[in-house]
Amino acid sequence: MSAGEAPPPLPGKKRRIAVMTSGGDAPGMNGAVRAVVRMSIAKGCEAYAIYEGYDGLVKGGDMIKEMKWTDVRGYLGEGGTLIGTARCAAFFERPGRLQAAKNMVLKGIDALVICGGDGSLTGADKFRAEWPGLLEELVKNGELSAEQISPFKHLNIVGLVGSIDNDMSSTDATIGCYSSLGRICESVDYIDATAFSHQRAFVIEVMGRHCGWLALMAGVSCGADFIFIPEKPPSENWRQEMAKIIGKHRKLGKRKTIVIVAEGAHDLNLEKITPAMVKDVLCNDLHLDTRITTLGHVQRGGQACAYDRMLSTLQGAEAVNAVLEATPDTPSPVISIIENKIVRKPLLEAVKLTQQVTEAIKAKDFERAMHLRDAEFAEYYAAYMITTSAEKPELLLPPEKRMRVGLIHVGAPAGGVNAATRAAVAYCLARGHTPIALHNGFPGLIRHHSDKPLGAVREISWLDAESWASKGGSEIGTNRGLPSEDYETVAHVLEKYNIQALFMVGGFEAFAAAAGLRKERENHRAFKIPMCVLPATVSNNVPGTEYSIGSDTCLNALIEFCDACRQSASSSRRRVFVIETQGGYSGYIATLAGLSIGAFSVYTPEEGINIKMLDRDIDHLRETFAKDRGQGRAGKIILRNEKASSTYTTEVITSIIKEEAKGRFEARSGIPGHFQQGTTPSPMDRVRATRFGVKSLQHLELFAGKTQDQICDDPMSSTVIGIKGAKVTFSPMELVEAHETDWKERRPKEEFWLGLKDIVDTLSGRMVKPQIV
Ligand code: ATP
Repeated sequence: MSAGEAPPPLPGKKRRIAVMTSGGDAPGMNGAVRAVVRMSIAKGCEAYAIYEGYDGLVKGGDMIKEMKWTDVRGYLGEGGTLIGTARCAAFFERPGRLQAAKNMVLKGIDALVICGGDGSLTGADKFRAEWPGLLEELVKNGELSAEQISPFKHLNIVGLVGSIDNDMSSTDATIGCYSSLGRICESVDYIDATAFSHQRAFVIEVMGRHCGWLALMAGVSCGADFIFIPEKPPSENWRQEMAKIIGKHRKLGKRKTIVIVAEGAHDLNLEKITPAMVKDVLCNDLHLDTRITTLGHVQRGGQACAYDRMLSTLQGAEAVNAVLEATPDTPSPVISIIENKIVRKPLLEAVKLTQQVTEAIKAKDFERAMHLRDAEFAEYYAAYMITTSAEKPELLLPPEKRMRVGLIHVGAPAGGVNAATRAAVAYCLARGHTPIALHNGFPGLIRHHSDKPLGAVREISWLDAESWASKGGSEIGTNRGLPSEDYETVAHVLEKYNIQALFMVGGFEAFAAAAGLRKERENHRAFKIPMCVLPATVSNNVPGTEYSIGSDTCLNALIEFCDACRQSASSSRRRVFVIETQGGYSGYIATLAGLSIGAFSVYTPEEGINIKMLDRDIDHLRETFAKDRGQGRAGKIILRNEKASSTYTTEVITSIIKEEAKGRFEARSGIPGHFQQGTTPSPMDRVRATRFGVKSLQHLELFAGKTQDQICDDPMSSTVIGIKGAKVTFSPMELVEAHETDWKERRPKEEFWLGLKDIVDTLSGRMVKPQIV
């Protein structure tokens, strides 16, 4: 089987699975359609698309079309939804749904995957509940015969949540929300620069009629001064409260003010709070030159970010599995993501919970509204609150519980390291701790007292770190060097500055540094302090976590690079790009980028490269290009991790492909190198960095006032924070070092993403293993 064509037909009954996009369009919907279509075909089913949402289902005919393998080529990179969407009044009424049921039976479709918001999924669930009754009625009124309906007794419905608002309960993220957040952050970053220049205030309205996720996350990502969200209205005297906080920020020296207002913002009495009302306060009470910007539909549009491409692909593939595994009694599922795990949840319950949030807001029960949003939402809100305001007397710890916390960056910079450090600084100040930057990593610390000082040790103020949320690079400087270069001096400096806790942000080097310091505790009293590593590296190879901050920024940079390469091939079409990714000895970045761009193949260090593999892939390319009749607007991409093989380098592979292509297609290599570190950190890296930064400091704080022996006896005094499956956890370094670390290859022993490579191969058609259904 070659990429670009369907696998051979299978014996047995073929199921027909249809996919539809409905409600407001969201970036990533096309990725979901592509995944459902190709996974269905790969599993031996027939795939259909229903055009224009429920409108197409009710109208039938040409609006319901069979989709072949090549029909969804290029879908991943396109914004909006290529199969269209609509709001359909007819589907709200039973006669409309009756017509829809008839069309499905006539087209032989018995499973429907719907990508839409809570309205679309409510409609879908109603449709399934009514299905037997609808079929009965169609027979009774003579529109269909009993024989016609007999194979369609059970309708399978699977929901994928496509919505930019991230307003659905039971999932951490909806398809489209991170792309939309990216659009918002990009705009706020632009506005930020002009606000700073003129010392202006900006009130920015973002989407979210019933859900404040976009406003909250934009507030966290961009370091907004104040936010208004529907779930957590401000107090009745919000005008004074806001003026006090923003006035305080200005007094501390802040030159600009950003206030983010969700479309559905209101006060405790459900009276709407508009950007104009906010502007009045800023102009009249604080005398700030204030402008309003309404971002509007810009927030919906454009290409999907890496996360949405990956999420929609994995969820689309999982939706097909859910259809094929369903029994008549299985409740309709919605495919969700909790932290890092794709899971199935009961659709009806998710819809009910979502509607309860709206009801709770209507009933002014805001505590319940916050409670009904997932736990992550409340944590982000808490992280925002603690990182935004300069003083919070009620949060201050008693003097004996306050610590001097050292903050250090280790290794190469990665998107989000500054946001994490900013969060740690703000948290420290809110609690009365002293945040101390240890500049330029451990070598900076070691050479601090030498003739040629490299680093510096200095206290950071709220204003110093205030603007770091959106900054790339490392504001306090970083270095790959380890403390093992000179434990003696490191201990000496930590003692000299009375560092009582250490927060290390970085990749595998930070992890190795923490391991070294922990082991050296017996030799140096200065290391008998609580320490926490926040993994931050484009390679995502730190043991103890499935996600390192910076890896999402890297994936976005890589898809931008790959999209540009592909586009450059659009005139010649027959071109293969061999693109070398970073990642050290971990194939994570290559594989996830492969999912996000729909790579032809991915070469990882875990699997290695051999001649058979190349031979097969070149055959595959030959067949694909031979059959290409112009639908393949784009070139093919092979992603090769930098350490996948020492023999088959990127250049060697490119030359082999060129030679073997015999002029039938071209091959080019591309090495994005440091481009992969990205410029501005992605919103996901910023928000996760902020949340993990706060959590890390909360964890370190648990050891305040403990003796050195108590600290050393507690394995939790030296930890790595991370995401494991559906949870955020702190793992004791000694356990992770001993049991979870492949020290030779500098990566975790178990890599959760290894199975995802099969999905890349299946969806590119490289290695379809059709199953009989
Ligand atoms: P968004 O998050 O963008 O608003 P949504 O899926 O919630 O997306 P809606 O406009 O609420 O968008 O719903 C889309 C379509 O789903 C409706 O036009 C209608 O055809 C169908 N639908 C919504 N709610 C129901 C319902 N209660 N019963 C039947 N059909 C419904």
